Amino acid sequence: MGEELENMKKIGVLTSGGDAPGMNAAIRAVVRTAIYKGMKVYGIRRGFQGLMHGDIDQMDAASVGEIRHRGGTILNTARAEAFKTEEGIQKALTVLKVFGIEGLVVIGGDGSFRGARDLSQRGFPTIGIPGTIDNDIVCTEVTIGFDTAVNTVLEAINKIRDTVASHERTNIIEVMGRHSGEIAIATAIAGGAEGIIIPEVPVDIDLLCKRIIEGRNRGKTSSIIILAEGAGKAMELEEIIEKRTGMETRATVLGYLQRGGSPSAADIILASRMGYHAVELLENNIGNRVVISKNNKIMDEDINKALAMPSKFNEELFELAMVLSI
Ligand code: ATP
Repeated sequence: MGEELENMKKIGVLTSGGDAPGMNAAIRAVVRTAIYKGMKVYGIRRGFQGLMHGDIDQMDAASVGEIRHRGGTILNTARAEAFKTEEGIQKALTVLKVFGIEGLVVIGGDGSFRGARDLSQRGFPTIGIPGTIDNDIVCTEVTIGFDTAVNTVLEAINKIRDTVASHERTNIIEVMGRHSGEIAIATAIAGGAEGIIIPEVPVDIDLLCKRIIEGRNRGKTSSIIILAEGAGKAMELEEIIEKRTGMETRATVLGYLQRGGSPSAADIILASRMGYHAVELLENNIGNRVVISKNNKIMDEDINKALAMPSKFNEELFELAMVLSI
């Protein structure tokens, strides 16, 4: 019989990369689940940067009170180039040893998962939780923060629509998504956009302008075009569309307001379930996994496999957005 490993007793949690609404709810779930299971839990501030510098405090059930509904992350987040070097990783491993921390939960995007993988590869059990508004992590159907960001953008579209319709204009709304059209597709459908431009599909400006003109001829008083930031610049498109359609055109770049705000109920629930699952894995000394949501079930996947999955975009939803935008 092999020697049985004892359950883990001390874990750490950090947030890394871009902040996302719901990260606090995930931190809360990790802390409270760990305490419920009799573990000690440490909050690491400023992501891998803080980890390398020992910016660490023990957390208790009260330290995560009243954070569930708050945007951003109480642990702060950072981008830490030095962590990508062997020296940086060794520094982090030394700090973890000094604090007696045996396992780590990393809440962030795929860059953060590479950091989590690097720690796991060196024998330190680390679990990734997908927290990013971009919903660009292929292994999971949804990431923490996406639902909130989509709702925030939708609110903005509805407000912009009022003024655009009053002035009989076209408005290009630039949303986040450097490599992914996920936010653009979801908000184009929910916001009834007349056009959608995403990085995954080459834009047909002639068709777009033709549709705007046809819409106006049918009596439409406004047109909203959703543009994912990775597919072009709203200001440049504004000029082109105004010239070609002869309609007054404006551009709005939503920027960081898409990241902030109170998380939606869906994001709080997702974050709570994922945080709980991450602690269950660590409790059993399981590392090198990413917590995922599939068919509304919370599961986990090997980090290397998750990182190697080719990016794909939701063609079906894109088609739907195109069909409904006529
Ligand atoms: P978002 O999707 O919101 O941008 P992210 O987690 O992808 O989030 P990154 O800036 O790519 O954000 O990564 C966050 C941090 O993770 C980096 O600053 C770095 O400390 C660590 N990291 C990123 N890539 C790697 C890598 N290849 N190897 C080790 N660590 C990495």
